[in-house]
Amino acid sequence: MVDHAFSTRLGGCSKGAFSSLNTAYHVGDSEENVIENRRLFLRYFNYDYRDVVSSVQVHGTELVVVGQGNRGEGALPGSARQKCDALITTEKGLPLTAYSADCMLIYFVSKQTPLAALAHAGWRGTLGNIGAKLICYLRDYYGAEPEQLLVALSPAICRNCYRVDKKTAALFNSAGWYSYAYLEPAADDSFKLDLAAVNKEQLIINGIKKENLSFSSLCTSCNRELFYSYRRDRGITGRMIGFLALSNQPGGRLN
Ligand SMILES: [Zn+2]
Repeated sequence: MVDHAFSTRLGGCSKGAFSSLNTAYHVGDSEENVIENRRLFLRYFNYDYRDVVSSVQVHGTELVVVGQGNRGEGALPGSARQKCDALITTEKGLPLTAYSADCMLIYFVSKQTPLAALAHAGWRGTLGNIGAKLICYLRDYYGAEPEQLLVALSPAICRNCYRVDKKTAALFNSAGWYSYAYLEPAADDSFKLDLAAVNKEQLIINGIKKENLSFSSLCTSCNRELFYSYRRDRGITGRMIGFLALSNQPGGRLN
């Protein structure tokens, strides 16, 4: 059994630009409100916000394996220890969390072996092929065959809302993502980048079966009422939380 979720911005206590369920400390919101929002959200799934493990997300492709000794790292302000964009665990009842507002979160579990992995991919992580890196790592270190992995992609910014400059487009172009399915010239000299399409293709190329891949078609920028969007809100905004844990028991960890 696995417990997993991705939040919206609804149902929290933060105010103004962070209204209302902001779950990130580093964006300028009140720490007390963020704690309360995390408590509310995780309690809904029978998890304690003080147990989560999160990293300092740096838009890279580093992976870190965490265990019971890391429990609570990142739960309170300034307590995250790992600088990376993907966390892996084989421990039951240890909630991995990541935070986003336009970037994509990628959830991995295996039908073969108890493991959970959660990655954060904006354009840099996507260009660095963080999904493929995780798939290879899970296969090499845990014997988890890609065909047996279940993968989910969170809501993220859609191609119509996500514009990148020429320089960024050139990087995707030279990495082979030049088809209009991934990168399309826009009227204002920028390019539309389809983060979801690139990530999906990377996962499939690396052995994830289409029927084991689920994704949301909701755009974080188009849906102002539901989501924070870093691009749309010009940087002053909150973050959604994604969490993933191997359950201790059906229905989650009761506390
Ligand atoms: Zn959109």
